[in-house]
Amino acid sequence: MLQKSHKSVAPKVGFVSLGCAKALVDSERILTQLRAEGYEFAPEYAKSDVVIVNTCGFLDSAREESLSAIGEALAENGKVIVTGCMGATPELIRNRYPDVLAITGPQQYESVVNAVHKVIPPQHDPHFDLLPPQGVKLTPRHYAYLKISEGCNNRCSFCIIPKLRGDLVSRPAGDVLAEAERLVQSGVKELLVISQDTSAYGIDTKYAKSDWKGREVRAKFLDLCRELGSLGAWVRLHYVYPYPHVDEVIALMSDGKILPYLDIPFQHASPKILKSMRRPASSEKVLDRIHAWRKQCPDMTLRSTFIVGFPGETEEDFQFLLNWLQEAQLDRVGCFRYENVSDADSNTTPGHVSEEVKEERWNRFMATQQAISTARLKSKVGKTIPVLIDEVDENGIVGRSQGDAPEIDGVVHIKSAKRLLPGSIVPVAVTASDAYDLFGAY
Ligand code: SF4
Repeated sequence: MLQKSHKSVAPKVGFVSLGCAKALVDSERILTQLRAEGYEFAPEYAKSDVVIVNTCGFLDSAREESLSAIGEALAENGKVIVTGCMGATPELIRNRYPDVLAITGPQQYESVVNAVHKVIPPQHDPHFDLLPPQGVKLTPRHYAYLKISEGCNNRCSFCIIPKLRGDLVSRPAGDVLAEAERLVQSGVKELLVISQDTSAYGIDTKYAKSDWKGREVRAKFLDLCRELGSLGAWVRLHYVYPYPHVDEVIALMSDGKILPYLDIPFQHASPKILKSMRRPASSEKVLDRIHAWRKQCPDMTLRSTFIVGFPGETEEDFQFLLNWLQEAQLDRVGCFRYENVSDADSNTTPGHVSEEVKEERWNRFMATQQAISTARLKSKVGKTIPVLIDEVDENGIVGRSQGDAPEIDGVVHIKSAKRLLPGSIVPVAVTASDAYDLFGAY
């Protein structure tokens, strides 16, 4: 559970995991969530900002062991959150340790993560966070983030991730697949593959092979996607760069093995600005590639993010971007106005753009994309599509299509007289659409 340490300002969590395999799955779920939110794990109490103790209460001896682990964490660190089986009898813990910050029961991942947020909030940076810009929202049990690597070998001029987290360090394929399988076994229906540069997976280890169920699997983008696609959950790829080898996974999408969805942070289209940003993969062949992907997999959803008002961006560069956007017909797009980030190289790039111009370009960009998104969603009206149910409450039933990642994309509003449960996948007849969402019936 301990991570390779890079010089970092990320909040640090200490973790003590006691008990059986189920408790271990709970621990992994909590750790996965915290990791996806940018927390790091500390090997020592003294280096932790808070310590989580996942307890076991099955036998008296296990309870005693759990209580003494809590006592040790309190003595060594002072800020302790208790979860797991002993959380079902909080009075036993409170009687002995009234200073424990929070106590939650088994499988209450969301409550544990909430308690961590209260002690040390996640550090949110809209440029770099792997989670959505709306901030941290707790992941319901039916989807999970699967982080396949740490760090990044690129050196984009506006980004400080490599300075903070170092170069790419890929997890062995066997480890990623074991985690993915455990998640699916514990009820996860959708795996969201994340990293800083997903398509670079395994480059650092020269695609090292590792054991997965008695077979050797390479730490390679295509191989990992193929294996993940066999687990029986939706597999959604985030932070993929348009390197030529990405073409290889499109067949897995058209065969229904992984979701026909690619999240590619293009950031810009003007060759001059991309060069100044030091972005990996040039824009030249990207449009051809997008057209070829769509030909092979017509249902593909393409999502991206862009920065407008990057230093040196002229009206001509910006117009190039708008024209490119029209040509690319991306389904989902997020857009940031450029901001300096402390320690980023682009801070000293000449030609900073005024706030008024940034704002004006952002509005033009959003209006252009909104028209594209509206038209693309309209083309789904009349079709019947699989929808993963996210929420069922007095306000209605809300789910997501294969083209909607949680938090960052749209949703499907469903009318149904049937009793639907979050996490189920149902065929929905799409009856209407707007700029972001679909509406349908089941
Ligand atoms: S690809 Fe660029 S923007 Fe993304 S983490 Fe690496 S350096 Fe930062």
